[in-house]
Order: sequence, then C-alpha cells, then structure tokens
Amino acid sequence: MKISRKSFFKGLALGTISLPFAIRALGGKNYGQEEKGNAPNVITAKRYRWKMVTTWPPNFPIIGEACTRFAEIVEQMSGGRIQIRVYGGGELVPALEAFDTVRSGGAEIGSGGAYYWAGKAPAAQFFASVPFGMNAQQLSSWLFSGGGMALWEELYSNFNLVPMPGGNTGVQMGGWFNREINSVADLKGLKMRIPGLGGNVLEKAGGAPVLLAGGEIYTGLERGVIDATEWLGPYHDTLMGFDDIAKYYYAPGWHEPGTMLEFFINKALFDSLPGDLQAMLRTAAFSIYAWTLAEMEAKNAEALSRLVRKGIDIRRFPDEVIEQMRGFTEEAIADITAADPFSRKVYESYDAFRMKAVNYSQITEKVFYDQIQRKPTLELG
Ligand code: CA
Repeated sequence: MKISRKSFFKGLALGTISLPFAIRALGGKNYGQEEKGNAPNVITAKRYRWKMVTTWPPNFPIIGEACTRFAEIVEQMSGGRIQIRVYGGGELVPALEAFDTVRSGGAEIGSGGAYYWAGKAPAAQFFASVPFGMNAQQLSSWLFSGGGMALWEELYSNFNLVPMPGGNTGVQMGGWFNREINSVADLKGLKMRIPGLGGNVLEKAGGAPVLLAGGEIYTGLERGVIDATEWLGPYHDTLMGFDDIAKYYYAPGWHEPGTMLEFFINKALFDSLPGDLQAMLRTAAFSIYAWTLAEMEAKNAEALSRLVRKGIDIRRFPDEVIEQMRGFTEEAIADITAADPFSRKVYESYDAFRMKAVNYSQITEKVFYDQIQRKPTLELG
C-alpha cells in the first residue's frame, strides 16, 4: 500500500498523470453537471467559465486537492454560475508563471504561495512564511484581524490581483540529513534543497542552498547531488520516500513555521463581479483555508506515528544552531526591509503583531503544551 502510494506520488511530481485523470481522482464529479431548481434570476444570470493555474504538481496531495475542492464549492454555491477548471503546474503554463498569467488575464484565478513572487514583490514573502516568523494561528490572526490582509491586498493590487488566504501547512519539518547537525560548523558546505529566505539564511551559515524541482529531489538526495532536503511535513515527505534514503529527520522547520497558501484572482475581473459571487469566492477560500490546515495536522500526525514505528532517527536542532540561524535571519530580513520601502511597512506591522502574539502565547499556548497537555510518548534525540 505504502509503496504504491509512493510511486503514485512520484508519477504526479513528474507530471506524468493527465489532467482528466487528476480531476476524476479528486472526485470532480460536478463538472458539466446541469443545474436544476435555481431561481429564474440565477438561471438567466451571466455564467463564468474560469481556468485556475496552480504552482502545484497535478493532483498534489492536500494542496492540489484543495484547489479542486475550491472549484467544487464555488460551483455548488453559485448554482453553476462560476465553473473553474483546475490546471496543475506545467499543464497550461509553467508553475512559476501562474502569477503573471492571472494578472494579465491569461487565466482568471491562480493558486500558489506568496513567497514564490518575492522576485517581483519582495514584501510578498511576509504573507507566506518567514524563518522564525509567525505560526499558522498567529499569521492568520494578523491577516484576518490584525491589518495584514489590507497590506496584502494593497501589494497585489499593483499587479492587478486580489489575494485570498487558501490554506496553511502548519509548522513544517526541518528536513532530511545524512549527517548529524551538532553545530553551525556542520552546515558549512552542506548542499541542501531549501528555497526562499531559508536558503539565504543557510548561505549566511556557510551552506549551499540548491534549487531542485519536486520531481528531482529524491534522486538528487539518493545520488549525493544534495546532502539534505526539506520539503513539507511527515505526510508529504514520506510520500516522496525520503525516509528510505536519509539517516536523520530534523525538527522543526525553523525556516517555515506556518506557510500560508493563497488564491489570487484577476482584480479587474473580480471587481466586475456581482457582490454575491465576490462573497462566495471569499467564503469558499476561507473554508478551504480551514480544511487544508486541518488536513495537514491530521495527515502529518498520522504519518509521524508510522515514521516512529519504522524507527526513523528524529532529532531536534541544537539550541546553539537555532540561535545562530535566528541571527542570520534577522540580517536577511534587514537586507530586504532596507532595500524595499513597502517591505519595511509590511514588516513593521508583521513584527508588531508578532510581539503581541508571542507575549500572549507565552501564558496560553506555551503553558498548555508544557504543562497541561497529555505528556508526549515521542522523545527526540
Ligand atoms: Ca518547505
């Protein structure tokens, strides 16, 4: 069962599974279904046929499923007035062209992670994840209730896009290594697949971040092209098979403490929609945000139990390493905010909210984990 899932996933990562298959596999049964029983004004209302371009491999577990679920919910809520066909990365346009494709109207909606667009808009990464930044709960509080969404909308409006939070991975894992990490010296010369700001931080620590597409990571690690890789969490990592070829699994993902996923819609199109459809799109995105976060927690916890039973050596980064990486992160963020005024504005809001959230969690979440919650059976090396 496990082996077949692995090879199934590898096929997906390499893009060998066709879109119609992906849609059937995800239960996209409502496509093309005739609407019935709607009020006359709905039946005569304008109907929209949209394309969603995504940065994910077709049928990517949880995150790709989230896109198809979004399409189904929107179609059902709107009585078929909006139908969305979901394309995996590379099926309509290359994964990292999703942003430009939607802003220019080549597709109506996209799905990704805002840090993918940091090259166009450096401030975008604060809306996805930053090393040592806020976790899923804190980040969503800043966005929904702390002023973050208005800044995200302002940033994306410059690109003719409307952003919506579309999920969160929760705290990711630190990655798979074939050597022990006992001090920062062990990171010197380490070739690791770690994208984004986390890669910049590794570089400051003397390591060598390597960019590899999802389908290339397994063979890269197996053949020693890279010494280490991060990916997501236990569920996605074991689907990739990393537990068969790496010695140590390090926790936690200091570089991605709660990555927010996103939907982005062409702004001119969104602004032209009637208010009920706009509200449906926002409501569907919010429900997918919640579903994705829940699904991540459930599937990761289950996969961790399997890894423990398999005897995988799960470690924690030493405090000294974490403290030095925190220092390098502060340098990397200072570089960004010094060079880009909008990044400075966003980070000021982000950091002020974070400080309040940290203080509050100190007397609630932290005490809960340390003192109140049932004692864990898993002990880390
Ligand atoms: Ca990751």
